[in-house]
Amino acid sequence: MAEVKISGVRKAYGALNVLHGIDVDIADGEFVVLVGPSGCGKSTLLRMVAGLEGITSGTISIGGKAVNNLPPKDRDIAMVFQSYALYPHKTVAENMVFALRLQKQPADVIRQRLQAAAETLDLVPYLDRYPRQLSGGQRQRVAMGRAIVRSPQVFLFDEPLSNLDAKLRVQMRKEIKELHQRLKTTTIYVTHDQVEAMTMADKIVVMQGGNVEQIGSPLELYDRPNNTFVATFIGSPS
Ligand code: ADP
Ligand code: MG
Repeated sequence: MAEVKISGVRKAYGALNVLHGIDVDIADGEFVVLVGPSGCGKSTLLRMVAGLEGITSGTISIGGKAVNNLPPKDRDIAMVFQSYALYPHKTVAENMVFALRLQKQPADVIRQRLQAAAETLDLVPYLDRYPRQLSGGQRQRVAMGRAIVRSPQVFLFDEPLSNLDAKLRVQMRKEIKELHQRLKTTTIYVTHDQVEAMTMADKIVVMQGGNVEQIGSPLELYDRPNNTFVATFIGSPS
């Protein structure tokens, strides 16, 4: 089980308070979207779950275990970055298994996991290519492949589609959702795009200025927004 519990989490950079006490419970297998305007603290919160930022106060637990003091490599998570974060001088296959090599996984395990991930993501014909030889959508799938091969308990996505054109973005939303339906991995997905949030989430966390404004299913937020901010944000065109 990999539920994620964020309890009373605050973050300050020196005198600047950017998160003011965040409480979010994420069930095992749930697809939760953190949404809110630029600068509201979404990435900071996600990076704290990943262990890339220290926690000023409060607790984050994964699978019932507090992870506040665990380095990223000891948390059972994988973060999906934007496609430009691929290694340009490594092939698709090398990009996908790089983390497994660092973990010193046996060669047959690496081969099996690469094959399975490549099949899941329709990347089998592209394994020997370099990132520059791929389309934007294929690169995005490689970025996801790097996360999938690790079979993590939790996937973290930070605006993974923001570099893609509108048409591809819509297609990749669908692919990410299908992937989630297949793997059922607990997922925290950050976006500033409310349409993306409404179409992808089991549960949406609406943030503004370092606070959570409302948590609910897309339908709940649409039908019963807590306040004008949520109503305006959810109701406005992207
Ligand atoms: P979002 O992802 O929602 O756009 P961020 O989490 O990136 O927002 O940023 C939240 C706030 O924290 C912003 O005001 C940002 O300027 C500030 N911030 C983020 N990282 C740092 C940092 N390393 N040092 C100081 N301030 C930061
Ligand atoms: Mg951000």
